[in-house]
Amino acid sequence: MILAIDGPAASGKGTLAKRLARHYGLRHLDTGLLYRAVAAALLDAGHPADDRARAIAAAKAIDPARFDENSLKRYEVGEAASVVSAVPEVRAALFDFQQAFAAGPPGAVLDGRDIGTVICPGADVKIFVTASPEERARRRVLEMRGRGQSVNESEVLADILRRDERDRSRAAAPLVQAPDAHLLDTTQLDIEGSFRAALAIVEKARK
Ligand code: C5P
Repeated sequence: MILAIDGPAASGKGTLAKRLARHYGLRHLDTGLLYRAVAAALLDAGHPADDRARAIAAAKAIDPARFDENSLKRYEVGEAASVVSAVPEVRAALFDFQQAFAAGPPGAVLDGRDIGTVICPGADVKIFVTASPEERARRRVLEMRGRGQSVNESEVLADILRRDERDRSRAAAPLVQAPDAHLLDTTQLDIEGSFRAALAIVEKARK
């Protein structure tokens, strides 16, 4: 079984994807980490995120087996990831790895922006996870404060809106709900409620 979980920044899709994978005994790939790794390679070497040639070279050279998730989850890396991810050659360089991951036994849960539309258009179940921008900003602030970072909520909201706009308006694999994806709005749901709702979608779709 392949589950495709897409949605905007801080929608809760990552947590959901992880729990679904554990529940069904599937492997999980957070595809945002791939774009984050490309961005981090640039930033760590002192290059700007909009250096296309370096981004393409970095995308061809990344090694997912060596990812340091904590470091890739840094806030500035997410911002830069949304810049490098708009480059079609970067997306092309990461395509085969994602498809091969999805195809391996016993199946997988992939979360990202274009899983249901580009990477796994034939996924068994597709869920498009969303929540209001204000709620997503609130969750991101809690998460960052939990990591000891001091943050300003209105700045986080502005960043989320800017990232959404960039991800939705790019020409290459924009963030969009696949026509056959189930919409899951988690604005009013906690983690447990979101998981139960996602489980209900998967179970109904499998019948
Ligand atoms: O999901 P996450 O915040 O880790 O993703 C970081 C950035 O990577 C996103 O803002 C998006 O621009 C890009 N991304 C993408 N396609 C994916 C996953 C992430 O373009 N499948």
